[in-house]
Amino acid sequence: MDLKLSGKTFIVTGGAKGIGEAISKELAQEGANVVVAGRSKAEGDALVKWMEGIGSKGLSIHVELSEDGACERVIKESMEKFGAIDGIVNNAGFNDGAGLEHGSPEKFRKSIHTNLMHYYDMVYYALPYLKKTQGSIVNISSKTCVTGQGGTSGYAASKGAQIALTREWAVELAPYNIRVNAILPVEVMTPLYEKWIKTFDNPEDKLKEIAARIPLGKRMTTSEEIAGMTVFLLSERSAHTTGQWMFVDGGYVHLDRAINTLVG
Ligand code: NAP
Repeated sequence: MDLKLSGKTFIVTGGAKGIGEAISKELAQEGANVVVAGRSKAEGDALVKWMEGIGSKGLSIHVELSEDGACERVIKESMEKFGAIDGIVNNAGFNDGAGLEHGSPEKFRKSIHTNLMHYYDMVYYALPYLKKTQGSIVNISSKTCVTGQGGTSGYAASKGAQIALTREWAVELAPYNIRVNAILPVEVMTPLYEKWIKTFDNPEDKLKEIAARIPLGKRMTTSEEIAGMTVFLLSERSAHTTGQWMFVDGGYVHLDRAINTLVG
């Protein structure tokens, strides 16, 4: 299937590591120009070199997205380099454990600020250019906002707001033929996840326990599987899909666990 992404330009926030890295690579392999915007400078620069090596073009922007003016700068530099923006992948995020019992109003506000605000800002500053290209937006959220996790109010609230904004923007931007969709991952091995799993006494046993609860294949989702769905949603092959929340999770959230246990 030709996704017709060659020569188009996409911005991936947090695009140098984990899920974002897989999305950046998949886009580059489709011949797209990729702007990798995030904190991980060395990884971002190395990724752009890799893209050039396979004949694609990239731009690494070293940025803390929660700082004032950060997103506006990302859009400005992307336009200066590539002259158009065909899509935004809002992906950068961190499960920071700002909860109720072990949190505080200050930690909650900080979590919302670092996890949510840049999703809005990126789209706000890119909008004039997305209107020109009839671009596409993908928000990477998390199952946490529909299942709860406990101890992480700020992250869960941010992720919930991201899927609400997905519907809200899908309505507001439909007249411009700009599509907006969300992906809700569950268990994906990334640098962030690796740090989290290592907080347990016996990470390997914990991993086995988690994988056993995933209906399809009793295994975790790969970053590449999230990337595949993202790139499809960015492409015109999904031209009539908007406002959707895609659970790329091996059936974790929706399938009947009792039945699955019987057959699995
Ligand atoms: P990751 O391995 O930590 O990669 C995220 C990248 O984004 C890192 O380079 C990180 O920089 C950067 N970043 C995060 N916040 C940033 C900010 N405010 N400004 C600039 N850069 C920032 O994370 P991941 O697991 O791939 O997660 C990607 C997205 O998927 C997140 O939105 C997360 O909530 C969501 N998700 C992941 C899972 C999972 O199982 N992995 C499950 C559900 C949802 P640093 O390395 O410096 O922090």
